[in-house]
Amino acid sequence: TKEEMGFQSEVTQLLDLVINSLYSNREIFLRELVSNASDAVDKLRFNALSDDNLYGGDSKLEIHIDFSEELHTITVKDNGIGMSREEVISNLGTIAKSGTKEFFGALSGDAQQDSQLIGQFGVGFYASFIVADRVVVTSRRADLEEGDAVRWESDGKGGFTVETVTRKKRGTEIVLHLKEDAREFANAYQLRQLIKKYSDHISTEILMPKEGEDAEGFEAVNSATALWTRPKSDIKDDEYQAFYKHISHDFEDAESWVHTKAEGKFEYTSLFFIPKRPPFDLFDRDASRGVKLYVQRVFIMDDAEQLLPAYLRFIRGIVDTADLPLNVSREILQHNKAIDSIRGASVKKILGLVEKIAKGDSYADFWQNFGRVLKEGIVEDTGNQESIAKLLRFASSKDAEAGETVSLEKYLEGMIEGQEEIYFLTGENLATVKSSPHLEIFEKKGIEVLLLCDPIDEWLVSHLTTFQDKPLKSILHGQLNLPGEESKDDTEDSEEKNDQQTDGFIKQLKEVLGDSVKDVRASSRLTSSPSCLVSDEHDMSANLQRILKASGQELPESKRILEINTEHALVEKLEETQDEEAFAKIALVLLDQAALVENGRLEDPSAFVNRVNELLLQA
Ligand code: ADP
Ligand code: MG
Repeated sequence: TKEEMGFQSEVTQLLDLVINSLYSNREIFLRELVSNASDAVDKLRFNALSDDNLYGGDSKLEIHIDFSEELHTITVKDNGIGMSREEVISNLGTIAKSGTKEFFGALSGDAQQDSQLIGQFGVGFYASFIVADRVVVTSRRADLEEGDAVRWESDGKGGFTVETVTRKKRGTEIVLHLKEDAREFANAYQLRQLIKKYSDHISTEILMPKEGEDAEGFEAVNSATALWTRPKSDIKDDEYQAFYKHISHDFEDAESWVHTKAEGKFEYTSLFFIPKRPPFDLFDRDASRGVKLYVQRVFIMDDAEQLLPAYLRFIRGIVDTADLPLNVSREILQHNKAIDSIRGASVKKILGLVEKIAKGDSYADFWQNFGRVLKEGIVEDTGNQESIAKLLRFASSKDAEAGETVSLEKYLEGMIEGQEEIYFLTGENLATVKSSPHLEIFEKKGIEVLLLCDPIDEWLVSHLTTFQDKPLKSILHGQLNLPGEESKDDTEDSEEKNDQQTDGFIKQLKEVLGDSVKDVRASSRLTSSPSCLVSDEHDMSANLQRILKASGQELPESKRILEINTEHALVEKLEETQDEEAFAKIALVLLDQAALVENGRLEDPSAFVNRVNELLLQA
């Protein structure tokens, strides 16, 4: 029953990409195969916890690596869980990861650039084809009979064949037939070096033929102890990095890590890594999380989502504890005191690690990569809000040019005398908010304003209402009460008269604008623009309305307040206009202009253009 089958088109694409872009890094094929063998052994050990028969009298779990210099082959063999025919077809012929389409859509065709992307995607088994032009996989699932084994064979081009074969032992054997230019890998010294370099931390023994004349049998070439169980001071950075690559399937080094052994009420070890780059599916809500759970060194599950909150989903790592039963299930994890306590402490450790990075030079990169996810923590994890808030960075009206960001702590340091609030402005993008007329008075007074242009920022500021006792205040909302503002008492009589005049003018504006605004008032915000739009203190911001509308939500209409700069020449001119028709036109133009600078667009642009043209003709 030999069947010929084609690869899923994404696999063909991936193979091309792997072969073309990873040539200079081709030794990683071994790391990937050993990593899979180790996963297979872990899975068998876990399944055997509830079904001892799976061992079939052979409970010494091992990985074997052998080679033939004459035949130019390398063989990687494990006695782990194995695969059925169906599993082989789907595991080695398709990519099941969610977000795969998007990943391939993001490729540029530039090998250099794409090789970095692929690191975030993970190459896995397909890395075999960097060095081999024929790969033969023979596998028997631990719970199947010897006649139900399967052989898979491919040249890594269009497809593969599968056939049912007989195999005496459970597990998987992978034979690589090396390409001519990769034959150097079929060499004891090379292979041992590579195992030491990439796979020393694998906790299962990796065996290779003994060296020397007349040597017989196999010997372990790795240290075969779970890395996290070793004393921290004994573990070299390289070893942490190799371990990171194994568990994360990442291609690049980790940015940083924190390794903790906790003793006390609950006993556990945790080792968490922060990647250099975000995974390609960071914003895919269904994407798997990256923390593996072990109970007393026995692998229990990948993707243990109970171990960390969703906003830390970019973290990779392991937790190993003695305080859970070996047969623990996902359901049990949901209401478990040990897990709750480990989770609480782990979050603090990770936030501490991020804080450390925040003190160094690489934080801008970190923020660029993971800032948006971290912001979710403000909403999701109120218990740690204060420490997360310290990690936030924002564009600011002061540093906007340089593209720099400011922390809330730094903002507080830069507050002017008498300033009691942290001012922010939300909007669609940096370009529009930077030129917003709302900033005018702040620039004049030298007050910094945080510029928030991420959609999530609207939720952020609705949950983060104060920082170190200073309220966060939207400069688009309500009346401003800025430091250094003269109070009403100082106004002289002549100005009072002016006020009366202004009142009349504003009343007239209100009549003309009618239902299109909630209110009209003289502005204390503007210095050089004639008008701007403001939201009422408790109304939804225009930006949030835009975001909600874009996501298809129905919203009740909420009107804005038009603020007028009574000192602006255009407004003064309007005030003097006797012609009622012209007055109405100019008033509408002022309203449209305010909307235009805010959004860069109008409800009815042609009406605006017509009005402006008519006014120009009259002038
Ligand atoms: P990943 O390891 O990221 O899942 P790979 O491409 O390395 O991706 O492997 C794909 C899948 O093939 C694995 O998830 C596993 O189910 C299966 N597989 C690969 N190698 C083995 C093996 N030695 N034993 C059992 N299953 C394996
Ligand atoms: Mg793998």
